[in-house]
Amino acid sequence: MISPYGSGARSAALSVTAGDPLRWSLADGYARRVTVLMVTDERFLDHRRERSHPERPARLEAVWSGIEAAGVAEAIVGCEPILATYADLLRCHSTTQLKHLEDLHASGGGQVDIDTYMGIRSWEAARLAAGAGLVAVEALREGVADVAFCAVRPPGHHATDTTSMGFCLVNNVAVTAASLAAAGERVAVVDIDAHHGNGTQDIFYSDGRVLFVSLHQWPLYPGTGRIDETGEGDGAGTTLNMPLPVGSAGDTYRYGLDAAVIPVLEGFDPDWLLVSAGFDGHRLDPLSELGLTSGDFADLVARIVGLVPVSRCVLFLEGGYDLGALADSAGAVLAAVVGVDHRPEPSSGEGPGRDVVDQVVELHGVGT
Ligand SMILES: [Zn+2]
Repeated sequence: MISPYGSGARSAALSVTAGDPLRWSLADGYARRVTVLMVTDERFLDHRRERSHPERPARLEAVWSGIEAAGVAEAIVGCEPILATYADLLRCHSTTQLKHLEDLHASGGGQVDIDTYMGIRSWEAARLAAGAGLVAVEALREGVADVAFCAVRPPGHHATDTTSMGFCLVNNVAVTAASLAAAGERVAVVDIDAHHGNGTQDIFYSDGRVLFVSLHQWPLYPGTGRIDETGEGDGAGTTLNMPLPVGSAGDTYRYGLDAAVIPVLEGFDPDWLLVSAGFDGHRLDPLSELGLTSGDFADLVARIVGLVPVSRCVLFLEGGYDLGALADSAGAVLAAVVGVDHRPEPSSGEGPGRDVVDQVVELHGVGT
């Protein structure tokens, strides 16, 4: 499948016009026109190995097809990613780790760990995935679009400053967050993937410039993300974990946003919001046991995107391993962001986990 969003060279992408953009309908109550910068590339399909693996090229094709089905083409501005430089990657990863990845690439690829592979062309895909957010920020600063979605793979949020793991080679969202922080910006990262974003947490655990918020199933891989992991040193209090039990569904997530996440975000007052948009919390996903629907993902993302000014939010694709659910979720999210009525599934209702939200509220002193 050819990406419908490729738009030639980077300079051309930044000058492309958006056609007839649709109406903005986010939570702040006023309407304006909105466009979404779609950063993606066929080269992300080249991250593959011979044996089957859940993190496979068909995932990205599912995202593209889901967004096409959502009928939001007029609102999308296509943009190619750039390769992250070594300087970009070194803000988040050790020289030893990067050398290990380069050496593996030079030898034709192989397993990084039992879950995580590098194919012949994976290193290029990984550096493009890490550079996607950087070009998105540049484009948003220039007013090319109102929101950005980096439809990339491999995913990134499990890659720590020393270890590539959990299907992730380098940490895409962290590379962008670190670049923004280095430029003096306050950054919030909200991770809604079913798995805890341990890599992003580790990289910014003692960094007060970056707020990290994760809603995830617990217990589940990688085993981190307890409520009492709240940051340390200069970053004390700037990590918020909401480890939700098996079966947690839309009402719990919406309660978690309203009672805990949104007040903490508003208190932090970020300049930029980055979202680790993993869709493996869908009720059909084979790698988790949560109860979310594509309609829930639309609710969640539309709600938090409205918390920062226009052109200050970048979404990053993380997990999502049921192709139909992934397509529906990506399409529903982009439709919600631009105000198009496209909900393949309704929102889900009650599930367990409200008590966890209440514990988070108490621990983080929200509303007191
Ligand atoms: Zn995941």
